[in-house]
Amino acid sequence: MSEIIKTDAVVLNKLNYGDTSKIAHLFTRDFGKMSVIVKGARSPKSKIGMIVDTMNIIQVIIYKKETRDIQLISAADLLKHFPIIKEDFEKMKYATAVIELLVQLTAELDPHPKLYDGTVRIFELINSPEKNPKFYFAKYFLFFIKEIGYQFPTTHCSVCNKELTADMQVNYNYDTGIMCEVCGKDRMSHFRFTKELFNLLQCLSTKNNNIKYSDRELDTLIMLLEKFLKYNIDEFKGLRSLKIF
Ligand SMILES: [Zn+2]
Repeated sequence: MSEIIKTDAVVLNKLNYGDTSKIAHLFTRDFGKMSVIVKGARSPKSKIGMIVDTMNIIQVIIYKKETRDIQLISAADLLKHFPIIKEDFEKMKYATAVIELLVQLTAELDPHPKLYDGTVRIFELINSPEKNPKFYFAKYFLFFIKEIGYQFPTTHCSVCNKELTADMQVNYNYDTGIMCEVCGKDRMSHFRFTKELFNLLQCLSTKNNNIKYSDRELDTLIMLLEKFLKYNIDEFKGLRSLKIF
């Protein structure tokens, strides 16, 4: 079975193939992750070759055969690109971490339009000159974890189900989850939230972007979410981009 499909996609990465071609890994809106070959992409005259570049948002026409692992691109148009991210070290670091999450933790050919739309949005936000990429990455990280089916708890005690508020002493245990002050007393705690940090966590999981925070608090939360994923998903090796940049 073969068909011609048209979809939007984020280019996750690309590599040279043979003398003239490129292979790219795409996260498409309608079909999920997919590897594609762009024949003749390295010729200076190849328009598709230029467009199929890491982090670009493109619309592609693909000649898709179920029996093939790598599909053939027949046309591509550039929808969005992010020049400001590519010129800024800090923005590049967090945009690369977004790509790493998609590469490591989403399945091939498993469409997820909501995650796709959230990913395009986060690139747009990180690409705005005045926005702090670390803040938006932390928000995206929480959203991503929820969308792949491992919601990080932020509202209720995992033991007694009491609603948690920012004025409580909240503790966290990888096995039990998040705990109110009473339940936290007689259980082991792997992580103790300060009031400011718990407030930040709760705000990040809402639409509210008007929050006071310090960079150090964001680092702590991102590290906690990374550990949470490592604990839940054996294959997850952590985010390299956060270490090497
Ligand atoms: Zn409790």
